[in-house]
Amino acid sequence: MDKLHQTALSIFETLVGFDTTSRKSNLDLIKWVESYLRDHGVDAVRVANADGSKANLYATAGPNVPGGIILSGHSDVVPVDGQDWSSYPFTLTTRGDRYFGRGTCDMKGFIALALAAVPLFKNGAKPVHIAISYDEEVGCLGAPDMIADMAANLPEPALAIIGEPTNMHVITGHKGIMVHKVEIIGHEAHSSLTHMGISANMIAADLMHDLNVLARRLWENSDPESPFVPPHATLTIGTMQGGTAANILARHAEFMFDLRCPPNVDGEAVLKPFKEKITALDGQLREAFPSCGVQLTRLANAPPLTPQNSGEAEAFVRKLTGDNNPAGAVAYAAEAGQFQQAGFPTVICGPGSIEQAHQADEYILVDQFARGAALMERLALALNQKE
Ligand SMILES: [Zn+2]
Repeated sequence: MDKLHQTALSIFETLVGFDTTSRKSNLDLIKWVESYLRDHGVDAVRVANADGSKANLYATAGPNVPGGIILSGHSDVVPVDGQDWSSYPFTLTTRGDRYFGRGTCDMKGFIALALAAVPLFKNGAKPVHIAISYDEEVGCLGAPDMIADMAANLPEPALAIIGEPTNMHVITGHKGIMVHKVEIIGHEAHSSLTHMGISANMIAADLMHDLNVLARRLWENSDPESPFVPPHATLTIGTMQGGTAANILARHAEFMFDLRCPPNVDGEAVLKPFKEKITALDGQLREAFPSCGVQLTRLANAPPLTPQNSGEAEAFVRKLTGDNNPAGAVAYAAEAGQFQQAGFPTVICGPGSIEQAHQADEYILVDQFARGAALMERLALALNQKE
């Protein structure tokens, strides 16, 4: 085990020890990272959420000049509720060739490796900007404020590497994600008197049918050339609730749906007819009973990562990793599209496999962690070479 690997491992243990499930505060982790960076003479900038209960953090190791590299990771992790773990999820545990713990591959391993390399990055001719976000797992909600702050205040960085688990392959595309909630308020009446009320459930079923038809149409419009799996936009209804008894017209119903579009499919256009129907329906229901209605709320909206033809970020990271596989695309959403939208050439590349993410007994292979350490060392070397 080389020295960087060893340093990173002790940081890794600390980071996994913070329970940063998205619904909780991540401030303990952020405070720890701040003090770690301060010990290395690096100042960090916090970009907090509205009520101050969570924060992003970014920091520059190395000179304050343009042409730096952004290394980005999210601090939050998915819940362990209802999962059967062999060891405590918030204690990093080594068994065989694997490090187990919540967030090991998604994605505290990458953050630990980046932090461990700060002393190396500090000597570079070009800087490394470490960016740590919150609320990625609930729709990439935290990063946009930080990215805006970075775009406004940093000397123009050359590119961004998002360290989501890709087994160290270079990924140049991901789908965008939109999450919506639909809420229907009906009018209660005895189920035998359907003319006296409005069943929110029956309205919901009609709207969900429309989404089903839409999902099928998206599937039928598969693009055989698409690098994405599946090669089309997807739409699914993830939750539904409604009604209180079989013999009462339901007063309330709601459901949530998730739309994921590759870069060549415009999510707004896909949803336009559905939105128009909701507006019309809302008017009709209000006319029947003023308290009734249908409301669509957008809960998340993160843009896709569009593969770039010029590919300077891709070429740079390929040189670091030696990855010669064709550039891939991933089906999961990430913050990469948000960085790209802010004008930074962006790729995804990080240790570990997405197949181990979000699972019970989440792990990262020791070998993947070592390859992540090698990436950081090569990056430091590349930035040291004065042109
Ligand atoms: Zn992730």
